[in-house]
Amino acid sequence: MPKAPTIEKLLQNGSAEWNKLRKSGQAPTGQTGATFTQLFSANADLSGLELVGSEWERCDLSKMNFRDTDLTNAYFHGGRLQDCDFRGANLEGCVFEKLKLLRCDFTGAKGLEDLEMDDVDMDRVTGLDGEEAPPPPPPPVQGITAFTREQREKMLGQTHAGGAMDGAASPHPDELPPFRPQDPPGSLFFRALKRVGAPPLWVLDVPGLRPLLPQRLPPGSSLETLYREAVKTRLENKKPAADPGAVERAQKALRMGGKEANVAAVYLREVGVLPLFRFAAAKQLKAELRTEVEVDDLTGSVDPRTTGALLELRLTHEVVEHLHEVRRRLAAAQLYTSLLEAGFNPENNWDEALESADASLELANAATGEDRQALLEGFQVFAALPEEARLRRLAYLAESVSNLELLSRLPEGMEPQWLSGPEVRECHEREMTYVQSLKAQDIPAKVPALGKAELGVPEGEVPEESDDDLFVHVRCDVCGKEKLIVQSPEA
Ligand SMILES: [Zn+2]
Repeated sequence: MPKAPTIEKLLQNGSAEWNKLRKSGQAPTGQTGATFTQLFSANADLSGLELVGSEWERCDLSKMNFRDTDLTNAYFHGGRLQDCDFRGANLEGCVFEKLKLLRCDFTGAKGLEDLEMDDVDMDRVTGLDGEEAPPPPPPPVQGITAFTREQREKMLGQTHAGGAMDGAASPHPDELPPFRPQDPPGSLFFRALKRVGAPPLWVLDVPGLRPLLPQRLPPGSSLETLYREAVKTRLENKKPAADPGAVERAQKALRMGGKEANVAAVYLREVGVLPLFRFAAAKQLKAELRTEVEVDDLTGSVDPRTTGALLELRLTHEVVEHLHEVRRRLAAAQLYTSLLEAGFNPENNWDEALESADASLELANAATGEDRQALLEGFQVFAALPEEARLRRLAYLAESVSNLELLSRLPEGMEPQWLSGPEVRECHEREMTYVQSLKAQDIPAKVPALGKAELGVPEGEVPEESDDDLFVHVRCDVCGKEKLIVQSPEA
């Protein structure tokens, strides 16, 4: 008979197998003298075991079940124990040295007077002073996760070697962050941004995430620079001032509908000036969004200045339908970011971590449904990017999702399905304000006088042979002139 794997080996390979053995009653309960070095393990059931004299060297244990476990003379040195359950355990002669205890519960543990604590950092630990029993701990997360600290350190070594990190970024290399897929993108972004050091300029493109701000911006008068300056000013709780020359340039950029249209629209938003042109920039902005959405990359970026411009100009037509894809990408970026933050990468058993929390399963499902292979491939692409590029994708996607969600809540008909060129829709150097889109049969009831003036249709009559046409009703805000622009589907 082959030698049964040891508890050390089993836990190193993940607590799933161990828990399964325990459930079926095949795991030996006598584990005196077991030695664990740099073990990362979660949710393992060690309840009721004899772990007398066991040694735990720099282990990272979370949600471990030590209920009624015999830990007499056990030695825990270095590392971290988080959300571990020591209720009823025997801790006589046990030593905790140079480690962190977070939210562990010692209620009803025996031998506490004979427990030695040396340089232990305790946070929300209960039951050590015979306190009242706290409410029962949350139900264990489904699944388990465990892998060795070596794997995590190797992976962290790789990311830290990139040079993007400054020396102060990781004061406690022993402190590996927990897996937190339940955190919103903004929190993941915030934590990661702190690690990157000085915030890059592009964080000003995601004001909705309330980023840490760059100290100063390089001088410049491009609309992009002026936009970022205005965002910085606003986030510093000051009022950004509109620069008349820049406002004029921004209005012109919207009218031209070129590459600068997106930053032009968001600049006007920041300085509180109404855009004089909406439809002129529609084609360009929609093409930019479509180009990004069509890229075959599960975490491909979507520029929040483009989605922000579409929102500012209330351009909904052929835009809102991209929300699903952008949400899907955000779910993937959010999941991967939380995995990488906790030290999981595509080469180690990240899928165990995935299974360990409902929040990560939900994100995986939103990203690729049942297709785990696609999820892995997306992760490989994402993990291979430099840290700042990953962060930017996460932030841009989060901001774009929120822009598109706001856009999707605008009332229908904010934008006509078709609208002809500037020569018919402009008056007084600006676009006429869009009032409504009408079908031919709406004309007699809604705009009879305008139908007569503009189309020569007698009041009370429906324009002939116009079943498929759209009548776009616009008005000049300066002179009050109104128009009905007839649009045919083929136009
Ligand atoms: Zn006018």
